[in-house]
Amino acid sequence: MTDGSGREIDYLRISLTDKCNLRCEYCMPKEGIRHLEHKEVLSLEEFVRIAGILSELGIKRVRLTGGEPLVKKGLTDLVRMLHHISPGLDICMTTNGSLLSGFAHGLKIAGLRSVNVSLDTLDPVTFKTITGSDDLKSVLDGIGSAVDEGFEVRLNSVILRGINEDDVIPLTEYASKTGVDLRFIELMPIGCGVRFEGIPSDELVKILEDRYGISQEVDSDSIGTGRGPAVYRRFAGYPGRIGFISPLSHGFCERCNRIRLTSAGFLKLCLEHPDGIDLKSSLRSGAGDDEIKEMIRQAILRKPAAHRFAAGGSAEDDRKMVQIGG
Ligand code: SAM
Ligand code: SF4
Repeated sequence: MTDGSGREIDYLRISLTDKCNLRCEYCMPKEGIRHLEHKEVLSLEEFVRIAGILSELGIKRVRLTGGEPLVKKGLTDLVRMLHHISPGLDICMTTNGSLLSGFAHGLKIAGLRSVNVSLDTLDPVTFKTITGSDDLKSVLDGIGSAVDEGFEVRLNSVILRGINEDDVIPLTEYASKTGVDLRFIELMPIGCGVRFEGIPSDELVKILEDRYGISQEVDSDSIGTGRGPAVYRRFAGYPGRIGFISPLSHGFCERCNRIRLTSAGFLKLCLEHPDGIDLKSSLRSGAGDDEIKEMIRQAILRKPAAHRFAAGGSAEDDRKMVQIGG
């Protein structure tokens, strides 16, 4: 599938649920959100049908996210079904990790290949400040289980000024000790994110160079990270590589290869922009696969060329990150 700007679209993020067991303050309002009613959420079969249609249209990788995907009932069955309908599909998940240790083995057998775990701090007090929870140990146990199961594991960290700046070096040390990649993601002004100040990637690179010495960007083709948004750097005195996802300071829209399906069955064309199509209504009103394929092809053509965060604004979509899936 090629969009109106000539970009190949081959990556789908599916937000399986708008529910989450944590309350990260830059993602989910403290008071929570109005959750979708059961009937408003796609069934497992509907998720699988849409993913199957999209894979026939050229989607090669699916990332399961949320809310928290591990609170979704039937997650392991869903992975198994996705793997079954499309054995070539690369199935990945992004999770807060707190429930991961209990699911890692089953998910591996079901066909999940890779797990990204969000980890913003290694300090239990800061963890409580950011997430509202005491689950740091469970998250670390989850990361350990995922590594033991042989998943490709990556850590994603959002650094907030005045909250977890001191965690940058402990996080890199932890990643190298655990043998996993770490990526720093710039805070985006989406939903509750507007209330905080993120730290731009260049400032993080400076902190890391002060500690580990000079750094150089790694050629993404040489490390097989393909067209993803992360730019990786190696630092003279650091054994691994560190990724930077910089939607604000170094836009990557010209490389964008992704679309998003919300748990309400809305196919979103851009993280920041509200445009998209309501696939749930089409599915439930009896549309056939060919009709749905044509709707998707038409929608992809109008995928926005770029987000507009850089213009100083916040996202035009009213949805919170917990509802979109990051
Ligand atoms: N619950 C799962 C988790 O935390 O990994 C999956 C969903 S969460 C919305 C996906 C990612 O979005 C997390 O890494 C989180 O840190 C990130 N995120 C949430 N709000 C954000 C924001 N305003 N800017 C940048 N990243 C954000
Ligand atoms: Fe939940 Fe993930 Fe959002 Fe944190 S970032 S509140 S874990 S959905």
